[in-house]
Amino acid sequence: MVRLAAGLVAARAVGGLARATGRGGGTSLPGKVLTRVEPHAIERLAGRLARGSVVISATNGKTTTAAMVSTVLERAGTRLVHNRAGANMVGGVASALAAAARRGGRVLDGDLGLFEVDEFWLGPVVEELEPRAILLSNLFRDQLDRYGELDIIADRWAELVAKRGSRSELVLNADDPLVADLGRQAGGLYFGVEDDALALPELQHASDSKHCRRCGHAYAYETVYLAHLGRYHCPNCGQKRPEPAVVARDVELRGIRSAAFTLSHEGEAHRVELPLPGLYNVYNALGAAALCRALGIPLADVAAGLGAVAPAFGRAETIELGGRPTSILLVKNPAGANEVLRTLTLEGRELDVFGVLNDRIADGRDVSWVWDADWEVLAPHVRRMTCSGTRAAELALRMKYAGVDPGRLRVVEGLEAGLDAALADVPQQAAPLYALPTYTALIELRELLARRGQAKEYWR
Ligand SMILES: [Zn+2]
Repeated sequence: MVRLAAGLVAARAVGGLARATGRGGGTSLPGKVLTRVEPHAIERLAGRLARGSVVISATNGKTTTAAMVSTVLERAGTRLVHNRAGANMVGGVASALAAAARRGGRVLDGDLGLFEVDEFWLGPVVEELEPRAILLSNLFRDQLDRYGELDIIADRWAELVAKRGSRSELVLNADDPLVADLGRQAGGLYFGVEDDALALPELQHASDSKHCRRCGHAYAYETVYLAHLGRYHCPNCGQKRPEPAVVARDVELRGIRSAAFTLSHEGEAHRVELPLPGLYNVYNALGAAALCRALGIPLADVAAGLGAVAPAFGRAETIELGGRPTSILLVKNPAGANEVLRTLTLEGRELDVFGVLNDRIADGRDVSWVWDADWEVLAPHVRRMTCSGTRAAELALRMKYAGVDPGRLRVVEGLEAGLDAALADVPQQAAPLYALPTYTALIELRELLARRGQAKEYWR
């Protein structure tokens, strides 16, 4: 108890210092200090949450999904301890708990822990947190040089699931075979899309073939919805996509602004008006809905809550810049980028695009993934594309190969100069601009806009 109290004092001190010196690293630093003093601080603190914890992991959409769950639960009156700032490794989870701790850790200001957790760190965090439910949403190929093959993560998740047994309820995406196979023994609450109108003609560029965990044979797809998500079966052993209990039907995608779908579970159905675009956000909402159902929230309240979700910074948020509505859409890996590109084509207009490709460490130094993303779908819609970032020239080259007329492309290396150049080139008054930054570019953009007084304060 004394170690925990001392650790919390130390965490608070560095937290205060990080805030006072204006460094953004304050989000995971207090937690790192805390777990250095008391290695089981997460376990000790999370144990005080009256309604336990839930955990969300995925390659894409963790932050948005957690924000959706948070909106639904807070409307239901739940007081959350939530790592909102997106710091999703051990330090970030410990920081969120430290911030909620009172009286030396004897009391926690919150009833339920809601934590998004990096897919690689899921094991160690879950061991400490003992969550009552785990939402596993998708596994896509991410920056390769960060963690290696995604099969390694799938294997780790399988070990974790086997170890948890029935101590955590699993909430799983039936449409992602890598995730769905995790519940074959343990069981789980499955969610999935059922809408053949959304079917893609074939597997996209970015998707590698997925193999049946039972026999190792490649899965065959009847329907592909997004990357390797869809309806599939194993031609060798007969393993099939599990029948989802929480389902999205009659999906309507409305460009960059919004989407709608009918959410059903246990014979009940409600229309969800989602203020976020794209099928990928329908999947995020579906995962959030299933997790909320696992927590006992009535389906009508889930649907209403999803309708009230606000986009997070860089996740399809639109802000006014220089008189132009500017939508900011994070692109960080082929599957995520493909969904953003596909959504952009639904805008039904010629597009002014500001692409920022960085190769800093948090982006993955290897930017070869841009060659795997389907920029070809965007190419015929581009009026003007300004390419910026540390690898601006490579992005422009990729666009040229995608079929964009070089006369429509422009390379401006610095982010600030690039943004201003993109904003200044206005085809008509108040024409929208679409900014597609990689991860560190998004952070730089947020800092730039904050300096100019143009960004809301999203993160502490
Ligand atoms: Zn099989």
